[in-house]
Amino acid sequence: AISEAPVIWFDGALVPWRDARIHVLTHGLHYGTGVLEGTRVFDTADGPAVFRLEDHLRRLERSARMLRLPLPQSTGELAAATVELVRANGHRECYVRHFAFLGYGAMGLDMRSSPTTTVIASWEWPAYLGGEPLRLKTSSWRRNDPNSVPPAAKATGPYLNSALARREATDAGYDEALMLAADGTVSECSTENVFTVHGGVLRTPPAAAGALEGITQDTVLALARDLGVEVRVESLLRSDLYAADEVFVCGTAAGVVPVGSVDDRELPSAPGDVTKRLADAYRAAVSGEDLRHRGWLTLV
Ligand code: PMP
Repeated sequence: AISEAPVIWFDGALVPWRDARIHVLTHGLHYGTGVLEGTRVFDTADGPAVFRLEDHLRRLERSARMLRLPLPQSTGELAAATVELVRANGHRECYVRHFAFLGYGAMGLDMRSSPTTTVIASWEWPAYLGGEPLRLKTSSWRRNDPNSVPPAAKATGPYLNSALARREATDAGYDEALMLAADGTVSECSTENVFTVHGGVLRTPPAAAGALEGITQDTVLALARDLGVEVRVESLLRSDLYAADEVFVCGTAAGVVPVGSVDDRELPSAPGDVTKRLADAYRAAVSGEDLRHRGWLTLV
């Protein structure tokens, strides 16, 4: 069950959690016409801090532009609202969900007749894939094709693709789905980007493979460069994961999580040495201990 917080930011006002309601004939509920972000707040020595807030809000704005969804608020307004909300809810650490969708006003697919509703919610939500190294299974569902719906937009409707893949994997007894692009190259997991380490080189698939340009992915690439690890953003085959020295996944909700096996091929080590170093570097960055990356933090 979700851990309820006192208030939700709803179209500009802080309203009690249970009063943040919408009509059943909301456009976005029927047609998936919405965009979203998932951001985390971490406890630091200077108090709670939002990690890479501006980057998340810029991605929200880009997603809205790709959908032609009018976003009434600027990223500056949404950043201020985020800080206001996290303060009002009194969190030390939390997850923040920004989303905007076509609201109530008209039915039918035409996107021009419905107003946008914008919401920011925050709640306490520990990393949800924690614990044991993950067992991945290649999904029978291909990642959304860029010419069907753009995977670069973090939009609500397209998450049906991820939800089908996640459900298939967990029904079969695995932890998470590995999704391939239409051309058969590796894309990403249902809600995380994927990395391999092979011969000391770190690799992750490009956006052209239908992978979201993850902010944690970008963080991991920057931290790897700090550590002097060679990084390559390039196409991967599923067999590259079978043959890798290490595999891990990462995302805002999950953090940096080692993979133990891919399609029942056990990885030689989980977590491997590079994964461990990157997970430690990630913890140091989000907690503000790594002074080089203080610019990623917005104090609440
Ligand atoms: N891919 C997908 C499909 C996702 O939903 C997410 C979570 N936002 C990610 C990757 C990871 O992105 P980020 O690191 O920005 O959370």
